[in-house]
Amino acid sequence: MMIDLRSDTVTRPTPEMRAAIANAEVGDDVYQEDPTVNRLEQRAAEILGKEAALFVPTGTMGNTIGITVHTQHGQEVICESRAHILNWELAMMAWFAGCVARPIHAPDGVLRWDQIQPEVRMPGPHWAPTGLIEIENTHNMAGGVATPIDVVNEICDQAHERGIPVHMDGARIFNAAVALGCTARDIAAKVDTVQFCLSKGLGAPAGSMLVGTREAMDKGRLYRKRLGGGMRQAGILAAAGLIALEKMPARLGEDHANARLLAEGLAAIPGITIDLNSVQTNIVIFEIGGTGLTAPEFVARMKERGVNCGAAYTGRVRFVTHFDVTREQCQTALEAVEEVVSLVKQ
Ligand SMILES: *Cc1c(COP(=O)(O)O)cnc(C)c1O
Repeated sequence: MMIDLRSDTVTRPTPEMRAAIANAEVGDDVYQEDPTVNRLEQRAAEILGKEAALFVPTGTMGNTIGITVHTQHGQEVICESRAHILNWELAMMAWFAGCVARPIHAPDGVLRWDQIQPEVRMPGPHWAPTGLIEIENTHNMAGGVATPIDVVNEICDQAHERGIPVHMDGARIFNAAVALGCTARDIAAKVDTVQFCLSKGLGAPAGSMLVGTREAMDKGRLYRKRLGGGMRQAGILAAAGLIALEKMPARLGEDHANARLLAEGLAAIPGITIDLNSVQTNIVIFEIGGTGLTAPEFVARMKERGVNCGAAYTGRVRFVTHFDVTREQCQTALEAVEEVVSLVKQ
């Protein structure tokens, strides 16, 4: 069996989820008559402390709808330069929402108001005004770092003072909550909309939630239909989503401990550079330049040894821990790295 550290999206539904799927009560969700979807939306809203929620097939759709409900064509969306919405969503913010990104580089992956403030544009004769500020929490490509609540709140307060809404790509907001020692609701308190994934560390087979005001969700429902996300007996998926939401956040700390184990092991291997401060959750990004291998070469050699992982930017590799990899498998993966690296040196 391959040890799969490519992503937490590879997690398969638990036996309890499969049983819930088999027994799910369903209806037509385009008519809002699927009781299981309705229950999932209600629970997601309650848990995140918002008025309403919308069940969407993917995180990309959740972000696209979140961006679209807040903005108008020809506006700018401020985000961190490695943001998922900018780099990994096929430019949907341009293609569908009609906006351009105003990326700002935050070396530690935590975008702060003092960096955002000079980039905020009010309407003028030459430039696109800022329509939205986006925060990715945790920040995937920055190594899964969590943005602290006071940083989120300052951005929200300052943005709202200027009439600018804030969307959070909280694909892994429950990992952020574990790292910060708070609830997802605390993190989301001042944010206008949040997208989070059921299909990653929470283990559901598919689905994401968008949460926010009732008005935003009613508007978002129409965009979901336009995007082809108006599913019918979606309670089949929502049944697994409910278990993901209620039961799985409590075990994410195990994934974080495994990521720490990997990170500390990697730090001791010659030729590998890793910023241990960036390893706060279940993502481990490290540089392999000193090993004499390119990232694709490293990934290929790991695969020959039974470990799947992915290249993240030039010279960098990403490991993601999740409930389908055990601590022992992480140890085995470390041994594979040691072997791959030592064989280059000869
Ligand atoms: C995975 C992810 C998404 C959504 O991805 P989908 O594959 O569309 O579900 C959004 N943002 C971040 C940061 C992610 O890691």
